[in-house]
Amino acid sequence: MSLKILIIEDEEKIARFVELELGYEGYTTTKAFDGRTGLELAETGEFDLILLDIMLPKLSGMEVLRRIRRTSSVPIIMLTARDSVVDKVSGLDSGASDYITKPFAIEELLARIRTALRKNMQEDVVLSASGLLLDPGRHTVTMLGKPIELTKREFDLLHYLLKNKGLVVSREALLENVWGFDFAGETNAVDVYVRFLRGKIDEVFNIKLIHTVRGVGYVIKDET
Ligand code: CA
Repeated sequence: MSLKILIIEDEEKIARFVELELGYEGYTTTKAFDGRTGLELAETGEFDLILLDIMLPKLSGMEVLRRIRRTSSVPIIMLTARDSVVDKVSGLDSGASDYITKPFAIEELLARIRTALRKNMQEDVVLSASGLLLDPGRHTVTMLGKPIELTKREFDLLHYLLKNKGLVVSREALLENVWGFDFAGETNAVDVYVRFLRGKIDEVFNIKLIHTVRGVGYVIKDET
């Protein structure tokens, strides 16, 4: 089965050219020429990657990006007409995987698509520690087969700690990567959520999964 790419681009010449080239590479493509149609297609959830122009009729690329990100972590590469730092920064802040400035060489676009797809697959890897399994693709957490219900924030925090298993992660790094920059400084939020996780995992299953490293941060280690 070939990977599906959605091209949201109002310049039809560019859209057709990209479609043709992606077709040669074995991808299946769908085109949308305005933001609203693009968003509707994206919301079907059937695409493996989305190429998203920023300047679009009906709904801007930035707005499309924000709305897709409410429900989906699909890789999105922004196509920007200008080499605008503002676009790049706001695009990446809003959850774009990458951006490419038009006009671009098709080889560069293909390379970025491969990178974004590969990165996404790594993020879907099931992670484990001490009998606990976290499946980012299915958004489930189990301990020795028993499901654990977590809120989104608890899940994201556990996911980040598991991705860094064996490494001590500082409260600041957790805030930045799990909460985002808006919460900078409020490091006690991390302690509160670690307590929630311990209540749902360590205490229920009588293990020590999340360790405190005094004055530094937290670390998940395999129980030995
Ligand atoms: Ca455009």
